[in-house]
Amino acid sequence: MEKQGRQVRGRLVLVPCPLQGHLSPMLELGSILHSKGFLITVAHTKFNFPKPSSHPDFISFLTIPDHLSDHYLISGDTISFLLSINAECKPLLQDSLIKLVQETEDKIVCVIYDTLMYCAGDIASHMKLPSMVFRTNSLTTLFTYSKFPQLHQQGYITVREDLVQDAIPGLQHLRFRDLPMFDCPIEALMELARNSLNVRTSSAVISNTMECLDEPVSELQQQFDVPFLTIGPLLKIAQMPQCSLLEQDSTCISWLDKQSQGSVIYVSLGSLAMINAKELEEMAWGLASSNQPFLWVLRPGSVRGSECIDELLPQGFRECTSERGCIVKWAPQRQVLAHPAVGGFWSHCGWNSTLESLSEGVPLICQPCFGDQKINARYITHVWKVGLELENDLNRAEIARAVKRLMVDSEGKGTRQNAIELKKKIELCTMEGGSSYNSLNKLVELISCN
Ligand code: UDP
Repeated sequence: MEKQGRQVRGRLVLVPCPLQGHLSPMLELGSILHSKGFLITVAHTKFNFPKPSSHPDFISFLTIPDHLSDHYLISGDTISFLLSINAECKPLLQDSLIKLVQETEDKIVCVIYDTLMYCAGDIASHMKLPSMVFRTNSLTTLFTYSKFPQLHQQGYITVREDLVQDAIPGLQHLRFRDLPMFDCPIEALMELARNSLNVRTSSAVISNTMECLDEPVSELQQQFDVPFLTIGPLLKIAQMPQCSLLEQDSTCISWLDKQSQGSVIYVSLGSLAMINAKELEEMAWGLASSNQPFLWVLRPGSVRGSECIDELLPQGFRECTSERGCIVKWAPQRQVLAHPAVGGFWSHCGWNSTLESLSEGVPLICQPCFGDQKINARYITHVWKVGLELENDLNRAEIARAVKRLMVDSEGKGTRQNAIELKKKIELCTMEGGSSYNSLNKLVELISCN
């Protein structure tokens, strides 16, 4: 079929999970597949609906008329939030899709849904539409969750203080303390893991990762009996600006322009993680005593129990760091990490932040809070060896030492060098003949067979 002189291979319906770390990679996937000749419809909840200015105009949107509120997110209960999204959205998304099928003149060749929006898989199968699962985190995380039932049965999942430093049987590199746990009842986490691991009705699992980072592809293919396609890092392949749900404060870029090369530590804990007032205080004084310039993202609501972060910053901190500190509510993170002044990233190690840092060759200080962040931190520090972890309770002396070690001291030289080497390997994956390049072509072929 041809439309406006362009070969059209059919319409794709993308169903993202409506959270920052999930939406941008899904839209990037849409942008790439659009460049390969597909028409793109994104079915998005009313909740967290992205502003039209923040996404390309070739994407048409289908609104899922939910009544979700950010109550769960504010309370930090991400797992309940995800379970209720699926329960509430299932009938609403089904109605919207039935209407779309009736009204569109294009053939819907595939429904690609975020693994956390597993209700879309059930709907696609019920409507006899081909579907694929999209994972916005690492395959090591998927592999770890696939071992949960067995580990649970063996009594390993509930945190046992005597085991936290021990290696997990069958999971290379990981200790029990690295398990992707959340602050929620174990039954809720097991239910979410079970639902999101159910890929039986899908013709492939697409993942925003790369062969050079993630090991268990062939084991997963055997276990789940579907092709696994690692096509990342999407941020480097898609030709589009990042879609941000919060307004990015670009004034920090002109501040970075004035700093010397590789001198700035960038600090951000992503869109969901929260800290308490004491941790904020330790972070502040740790940064102050490191003597390095810093760019710190303090997201409103990220300190438990307070909206106004300024009031929580310790007395005298702003004055004593005004020459070398910049604090913003939300930054254009990718631009920040690509800036030559940035020499390190103190991160919660969400998968997107991890990929964004690795793709720019920026080494990390890891402060994982929950879920897959702990796995990512372990890989950053012990497998790829491109960072160090703040292992104990946050403490200003340890923070100052970590910043110095990562960015200045000779002890950190190897880590900084490894980050540059890994950046090159990642670039190779996306180049012609590279693993992500080849997997992307395979993905287009697979969808086109539908
Ligand atoms: N981000 C941003 N500005 C900020 C902090 C974060 O644009 O000030 C973006 C960041 O680039 C990343 C996403 O928010 O793409 C966070 O996703 P990630 O998977 O790292 O963590 P999550 O927020 O899901 O915990």
